[in-house]
Amino acid sequence: MLALQGSFALHAASLERLGVHAVEVRRADALEGLDGLIIPGGESSTMLKFLLEEDLFDPLLAFHRDGGALYGTCAGAILLASEVSGPSQKSLGLLDIGVRRNGYGRQVHSHAATVSCRALGEPELPVVMIRAPVITRIGSGVEVLASHRGAPVFVQSGRLLATTFHPELTEDLRVHRWFLRLASLA
Ligand code: GLN
Repeated sequence: MLALQGSFALHAASLERLGVHAVEVRRADALEGLDGLIIPGGESSTMLKFLLEEDLFDPLLAFHRDGGALYGTCAGAILLASEVSGPSQKSLGLLDIGVRRNGYGRQVHSHAATVSCRALGEPELPVVMIRAPVITRIGSGVEVLASHRGAPVFVQSGRLLATTFHPELTEDLRVHRWFLRLASLA
């Protein structure tokens, strides 16, 4: 769990409920021996600043290159994306999607809904959106696992997973379980 900023404690709690012990990563050496890493929601510009200050940017790219699975939630999805607008900012560029920050507009800053997700089956998946980015472009090789209001909200490409919603704020553990399988931890 990248623990520089944002909602990492709730992700850790979801993983513990699935019987997996989460490690909080604040420095590059903590990535050693991990199979997967969650980049939580929060404020992507602040997280990016810490990533650069702590010299974590290149180690994260290396972590993925060496086989590590990554899951970005909301701000974490922004950090994984190859293209960021509204305003534009630097990102890891691992996941070939375009995102527009705070793209759901001021009036719907935050909202909750349920969406159908064939990969996770029934019942519908609860999605909590908090100043969420809109995924505006899907690159080749990126699979859309769920959409909401006409835009993808849950995508996967190889060992990369991203949601623009926050499963750690719900009781539903299916997204975390999905990621654990991707990271060969379940
Ligand atoms: N609006 C935030 C950003 O642009 C993301 C919000 C979130 O992670 N809940 O970084």
